Amino acid sequence: MKFTVFILFLLSFTISIQAQQNQRFIAVTIDDLPVVVKNGDLAKRQEITKKLLKHIAKAKVPAIGFVNEGKLYKEEKRVEAEIDLLRGWLGAGLELGNHTYSHLSLHDNPLEKYTAEILKGEIITKELLKRKNLEMRYFRHPYLWTGLDLETKASLNEFLREHNYTIAPVTIDNSDWIFARAYDNAIEKKDKKLQKQIGAAYVPYLIEKTAYWERQSTKLFNREIKQILLLHANSINADYFDDLAKALEKRSYKFITMDEALTDEAYKLPDNFVKRNGISWLHRWALDKGKENILPDEPKTPNFVLKAAGIDSE
Ligand SMILES: [Zn+2]
Repeated sequence: MKFTVFILFLLSFTISIQAQQNQRFIAVTIDDLPVVVKNGDLAKRQEITKKLLKHIAKAKVPAIGFVNEGKLYKEEKRVEAEIDLLRGWLGAGLELGNHTYSHLSLHDNPLEKYTAEILKGEIITKELLKRKNLEMRYFRHPYLWTGLDLETKASLNEFLREHNYTIAPVTIDNSDWIFARAYDNAIEKKDKKLQKQIGAAYVPYLIEKTAYWERQSTKLFNREIKQILLLHANSINADYFDDLAKALEKRSYKFITMDEALTDEAYKLPDNFVKRNGISWLHRWALDKGKENILPDEPKTPNFVLKAAGIDSE
């Protein structure tokens, strides 16, 4: 009898070790808060926030949201109902970061204007965080545009350091924003069939994309690093985040915080990318090692989604 117990113990121990070995880690980051939606009124923004937060809480995802504070003002006056949306995020125990005041492009504006926008974009969020005894800690570049030369990049990094910001990188880059635009267009046209088709293609697309970034990570590091997923506070995520969370869990992902993700050694590597596009940090690191390290066949957004979004190509 004792022997059987011992064997069972050994077996469960081995299974748990195996489970740990197969465990994957992902931090979920959600940009353009409070909401990014085409033709959405306040009621729509409230609905999107409510649904999104419900799904995030249900799946116990310690997500971080990146705020464009410009959306909290109307004619330079604070709009409490919009600020309430952010209070919802903090009430759900989630962290907030800075995404500039008006989603400004670093590539089309002088650095001084950009840094002024970072400061202008932290006022309300910092107040809200302070009431929860939290601090603003993370910065996410709009469009993931991080500078067209190393000098600008270094100056911005210095500014961010001085203001206690850590850059929030992205590894699982994707085009959820194209799906969202297509989805919003379908809703606007009251085309339920198309809306459903777009929704049905969304989670499989994101999982395919995730699998690609897993392979890219293995190619670069011989292992899967702790991933950071970029999503937006939009209507398609409000409707499908639940399904996405389930699909990621099925893929052995454990949801972690931004802090936990950044404990991965990979994030100590520099970001030397100075081209115009906003790309995954995995591709930035791959390019540093030579173009041949970029894995081919990155999954594309389906044509019918591009068409519904009114976008010619990715
Ligand atoms: Zn953004």
